[in-house]
Order: sequence, then C-alpha cells, then structure tokens
Amino acid sequence: MAGQGRILPQVMFQCYEVAGENAVMSIETRKEAALALLRTAVRDYGRVVYSSSLGAEAIVLTDLIWTQVPEIEIFTLDTGRLHEHTRNLIERLENRYQRRIRVFHPDPAAIEAWIAANGINGFYNGIEQRQSCCHIRKVEPFRRAIAGAGAWVTGVRREQSATRAAAQIDQANGGIARISPLLEWTHEDVWNYIRAKKLPYNPLHDQGYPSIGCEPCTRAVQPGEDSRAGRWWWENSDSKECGLQPRRRGVAVPAG
Ligand code: SF4
Repeated sequence: MAGQGRILPQVMFQCYEVAGENAVMSIETRKEAALALLRTAVRDYGRVVYSSSLGAEAIVLTDLIWTQVPEIEIFTLDTGRLHEHTRNLIERLENRYQRRIRVFHPDPAAIEAWIAANGINGFYNGIEQRQSCCHIRKVEPFRRAIAGAGAWVTGVRREQSATRAAAQIDQANGGIARISPLLEWTHEDVWNYIRAKKLPYNPLHDQGYPSIGCEPCTRAVQPGEDSRAGRWWWENSDSKECGLQPRRRGVAVPAG
C-alpha cells in the first residue's frame, strides 16, 4: 500500500468534495455517534483516558475530544524509538489546540537492563525479545497511564485487522472498559474527516505508512497489503500485537 498510502488521502478528499450531501451526512452521522459514545463513557465511567497512537485515527479522536469532550484525558507513549515525525506531531497538535498531550516514558532502568541483555536492536532476534521490548516500552507505561481510570478510549476500527475487531464498549474482564468510537469508521471516513478539517497528521502516511509505530519496527507497505503488514514485518501475523490490544475478542485488556 506504499502507493496507496501516498495517494489515498488526496483521492479521498476529492471524493469527499464531490460526493455531495450524502457523504457529508454520512461522516456527520458517524461523528455524532462517536461523540455520543464518548459522552456516555464520561457519564458512566468517570475518569476516561484516551491512549493516542498518533496515527490517523488518533487525529480524528483528538479533534473530537479536545473540541467536544475535553474532560477526557489524552496521553501517548514515547517508547524512545519513535520516528521524529511522530514526536513533531505531538507538538503540532498541541499548537493547534493549545492543550498538552501527557507523554509517558518507559522505566529507564528496565530499558538499560533489557539492552544489556539483548543488544540495542535485540527485538529483531525473536518474538520473545520483541514482546519483552514492547512490554517495557509500551505495556508497562500504558498500565501506569490508565491506573485509576474507569475507561480508556482506543482508535481501533473493525476493518483494520481481524485480531482487533471488538465491541464499541468492551468490558470483557469486568475491569477497565475499552471504548472504541471509531469501530465502524472506514479508512475513507478517517481521511475524509482529516482532510475536510485540514488537521495535522504524520507525513509518513503520505510515504506509504498506514500504521506507524516505533521507527525500527515499522515500514511502508505495498498496495493491497494489510494495513498492519508494515509492523514487525519479520514476524508472522499471529504475533503482531504489542500487548495494548486484545488478540482475541473477550481477552482481558490491557494484555500483558
Ligand atoms: S515496536 Fe519495536 S522498538 Fe518499539 S517497543 Fe516494540 S519491539 Fe521495541
């Protein structure tokens, strides 16, 4: 999808412009449904946090939350291995909305110990090493970030990956609820929204990156490939989660 990644946002924006009232109504309907879910979450779960991936879906959710449901706290995880474009996007969003995204970092001592044991890029050497790196750099800071919250918001969409499909409100383990306001949004919906509102987004999307994670573990994908094919491309698809999303419907969240 490298070419698709470069072309789609522009093409979809053009479709949005020419499709007329139905397209506008459709995206408006989806937006109102997403906002209703976010407001319900605040009403029912008290403290609600949004774990921003800084991907395209995160741009939509950041706009919805900061303009309409500002009670929801937005945080992100700086793993220490992010693209510079991704870090810059934090600043661009903060400048636009004049709000701060809370940034959580991994435990430096845990990082030092992991690198001493596995090498600076040891995550390439096996699934166990990769998952332990994700655990230290993502899962542990994520757990700190959501501690005490009643619900956390995700940008998961049903069409992204079979392993990520879930309900809009998922309380599988009776613990913290997971809220997915964009679950029924399509790729086109997301980009229509971003383009129509001229929102800042990660320029890597225009270089064929539909899904953007840590720099050494993400690459552009080819046309027709799954949107997450560029993540941990050296592994088979069964192992491609970082521990922040359930691998099967009904599995406790967050996974370890
Ligand atoms: S995506 Fe790669 S660098 Fe980032 S935490 Fe996981 S294994 Fe480590």
